Amino acid sequence: MKKITVIGYPIGHSLSPVMHNAALVEVGLDKEFIYEKLEVLPEDVPSFIEKIRNREIYGSNVTIPHKKAVHDNVDELSEEAKLVGVANTIYFENKKVCATSTDGIGCLKALQEKGINVNGKKVLILGAGGAARAITFALAQNSAHTIVLNRTIENAKELVMEVNEKVNVNFEFGSIMEIENHLNEVDLCINCTPVGMSGKSEGETLITTKQFVNAKKDLVVMDLVYNPLRTKFLENAKSANLKTVDGLGMLVHQGAVGFKLWTGKDAPIEVMRSALKEHLGL
Ligand code: NAP
Repeated sequence: MKKITVIGYPIGHSLSPVMHNAALVEVGLDKEFIYEKLEVLPEDVPSFIEKIRNREIYGSNVTIPHKKAVHDNVDELSEEAKLVGVANTIYFENKKVCATSTDGIGCLKALQEKGINVNGKKVLILGAGGAARAITFALAQNSAHTIVLNRTIENAKELVMEVNEKVNVNFEFGSIMEIENHLNEVDLCINCTPVGMSGKSEGETLITTKQFVNAKKDLVVMDLVYNPLRTKFLENAKSANLKTVDGLGMLVHQGAVGFKLWTGKDAPIEVMRSALKEHLGL
């Protein structure tokens, strides 16, 4: 049995096995592959990469906090991973351990399937971590103007300076305290922080209903958090009659890229989505 993993530390929260194992059954590869969670300590990332090299493990997804370490330790990076500076998918090709970044394309596809094209749009990104980084680069490559707001303003500055230089855009940055100043000028607002996630911050939100009421009338609001799927952030946006996009579509689409790299088969998107919804009790 070829083993595919998702590595992180901790890794208990990951829903990737649910959707990938359902996808393997659908395409008739569940006797050949199995997808499992694997907790890997930060100091063990290089030895994990050796396991991919010697084919003990066939491929992997990568989550917090290993995306940078994987980027820095594999043999070869895709153009996307080189640009973004982090990697979330590892695969083996031409006798080399390779890695790519699929969060940016996953986010854009999740928006596209809801009829939202970012080209020419003004976007507010909340957060400047790994997911925000991949999405901000994807927005730069797809002609959207972006403002990145973050709790630690230096991290927003660092990200925006890097994107501006590498992709030749003129993105802006600021403090998360400035959200209200921007809500009536943007077309799309994406929460790329874990605020609202199950556990410590469930029920919390970076934007209140009152603030959403004063936003641009056709603002689209997206939350990357998918557990719970209906976050307070999205509930508040809905109460202000704004269109919302939850984190499930991105989870499926960022995973679909890896599925194709590992198995050579197109990912069964709807089967993956249904498996996740069933798991979440929806
Ligand atoms: P990360 O690299 O740890 O970055 C977290 C970001 O959130 C940082 O900018 C951090 O600000 C900010 N932040 C953390 N706690 C905050 C708080 N209490 N108030 C305000 N800002 C706060 O995490 P990530 O990998 O980017 O992931 C972010 C979220 O997206 C997670 O919930 C993750 O599960 C989700 N995600 C979803 C998908 C999907 O497919 N739907 C894919 C990737 C990630 P500082 O710089 O100040 O620390």
